[in-house]
Formats: sequence, structure tokens, C-alpha cells
Amino acid sequence: MIPLIKPDIDFDEVADDIKEVLNSGMLTSGKFVRDFEEQFAEFIGVKYALSTTSATTALHMSLVAKGISAGDEVLVSDFTFPASGNAIVQCGATPVLVDCVPGRFDIDLDDARRKISSKTKAIMVVHPFGQPVSAADLAAFSVETGLWVLEDAACAVSATSNGTQCGAIGGAACFSFHPRKILTTGEGGMITTDDNDLFNKLMILRSHGGRRQTVGFEFIENGFNYRMSELQAVLGRAQLRKINDIVAERKRISRIYIQKITDMNKVSIPLAADEESCSFQSFVVLLNKEVDRDLVVARMREQGIETMLGTYAMHAQPSFSRFGYFPGDLPSSYAAQNHSLTLPVVKGMTEPDVEFVVNNLHAAIC
Ligand SMILES: *Cc1c(COP(=O)(O)O)cnc(C)c1O
Repeated sequence: MIPLIKPDIDFDEVADDIKEVLNSGMLTSGKFVRDFEEQFAEFIGVKYALSTTSATTALHMSLVAKGISAGDEVLVSDFTFPASGNAIVQCGATPVLVDCVPGRFDIDLDDARRKISSKTKAIMVVHPFGQPVSAADLAAFSVETGLWVLEDAACAVSATSNGTQCGAIGGAACFSFHPRKILTTGEGGMITTDDNDLFNKLMILRSHGGRRQTVGFEFIENGFNYRMSELQAVLGRAQLRKINDIVAERKRISRIYIQKITDMNKVSIPLAADEESCSFQSFVVLLNKEVDRDLVVARMREQGIETMLGTYAMHAQPSFSRFGYFPGDLPSSYAAQNHSLTLPVVKGMTEPDVEFVVNNLHAAIC
């Protein structure tokens, strides 16, 4: 079976550090977490990086730290893993779902403009599958609307827009280190920002809302426990050391796909930016509407190839119907959910491996 994605982790790279953590008895919030955060901030090019238990908790805590609560509205990309919208709901705020650019997977900022109300406080922008949304467009949008931009950069480690890393574009950004993502710690996440006030607030919220006193803490917020463990940070540091190799390998394989699929009938390759700027957390194509995507997935599986839909149109999920949405209300996102197909990108795939996938895709759609 060719799997969709496989973490690039090697025990020998982490064995000594794991031993050190276990022998030290310092299992959380120690030097490995601090070092991982420092290295990550430097890589992204921001002042602060704060590790968390996941991208979902990172998004939730960022919105809470920004004071977003009941009665507020937050614009959010509709075509995304539903964690993006759930984080808004978890603050008590209302998610206002924004469609994709037609035929693509990234957010349509014109649709976002139309949906701004007096209650709108922020916009959460997803960089889909590691395709960067334009930093210039987001900066212009933020200046024009006065809205705070939160990047859902869950899939976007090492994606860049005009030389700026995803994670250094908005007021803050949230990354995921789930095994399906580019850099993994098993579970885990990171918030990046240049905003000192926000960072201080996040530090307090992450650890139960406590502020350190001479003895013990004073609790000034009803905070969370969203802290990363030392063992996760050991994995994160090892992954970050070779992130350029991990991403180069994903780009190499993706470029072969692009070469072999570009002229195929009934298939398009939507990208939000030039391919060099994308990190290709997933390689996702869009099939013509007459193709039965689910049948393609089944046929590919029979050939030993794991494929999957791209991601979800949140508005079409039952959990968002109470906000007044019906499936199909956001047509581009709905089409992306129903007609997208993720193809495997796994370290070491050769040109013949990619050709095997592409040939089977061709056979499956005909
Ligand atoms: C994976 C993902 C998340 C959730 O990440 P977790 O670390 O699993 O919480 C959120 N948003 C997007 C766009 C994702 O792809």
C-alpha cells in the first residue's frame, strides 16, 4: 500500500535526548520546550513562538487572548478541517464562513469583505495544504478593514509568500504538529507572533491563568492547560533541524505530479501561489464534476494507493447547520469538498512510483 503520508522520523536522531529527558525527571515545560520554541521563532522570522498541545488549542487560545467572545463574529475560510471553525465556537463567538476563490482552495477575500458586519472582530485565514495566501493581499485587507488576521498555518510550515514565511504574515499564526502535517511531534502545536502583549497573555493562559509569585502563583485568568511536554519538544527539535530536507522532498515529488498531471483531462491542480512557495503538506487535485470522486478513491485503493478527499466544507457539516448554513451555500468550497482528491506524497517515492499513481488516476477517472 502506498500511504498518503508517513512521518519522517528516525529514532537515532532523538534517542539521546529522550534518554536525557527521562533520566532528568523534567518531563514538561523544560529546556527542550524552550529551545524548540526559540528555534521555531527564528525559523519563521518572528519574535515569539509558544508551543501548545495542538493547532486547535493554539487557535482557541489565540482568539481568547485577543478578547474574542460571545456576540463577536470571526470570518473564517470555509474549506478547512473543522477545527478552524470549532475554535471560534469554543470562544462563544460566531463563525462567519467564507468561500474559496472559484476553482481553488484558498479564501476569497472579496467574499470576506461582503460578510463583514459591525460585530466582526477578526479573520482566520487558512493556508490550504501549505499553499500560502498572499501576504500582500492579507496586509491590504487588514489595513482596509481594521480586522485582526489570525493565520491557520496548521499545514503551512515552510510555505512562503514573497519570501515571508507563513506564520509571520498575520497578527498571530497557529501551526499543527499532528502526524499528518509536515513537522510532527505526535500531537502538538505552536503559536507565532511579534505582538509582545499577546505573547504575555498567551503565556499566562497556557498555564491555568497563573502568574508566578515568590511562592506559588496568583491566578488572574481562567486559563487552560495547553502545554507541550518535553518528549514532544525533543521530536520537534529533531524535525526542525531537517525541515528543509523534509520540504524539499515533498516539493520534488509534487513537481513530478505537476509535470505528469498538468495535461490530463478532467483534472486540475489548483494552487494559491507559485509551486516554489508551497510546502505541499498535501498534494490535492480537483476532479471535474462528472467524475465520481468516491469511486476513484475506491479504485485507487484496489491498486494499493491510499487517496482521500482534500478537506471539508464546514458549512456543509451538521455541526455548523445551527449557524444557518445549508450544503451548497458556499459553492466553491462545496465543490472543493466533493471533487478534491489527495494523492500520496511519501519520502523516497521515485518517479516510477508517482507514474504508477498517475496512471491509476488516469484509469480510474476514465
Ligand atoms: C490539522 C488542521 C487543524 C487541526 O490541527 P490539530 O493539531 O490536529 O489540532 C486545524 N486547521 C487546519 C487547516 C488543519 O489542517
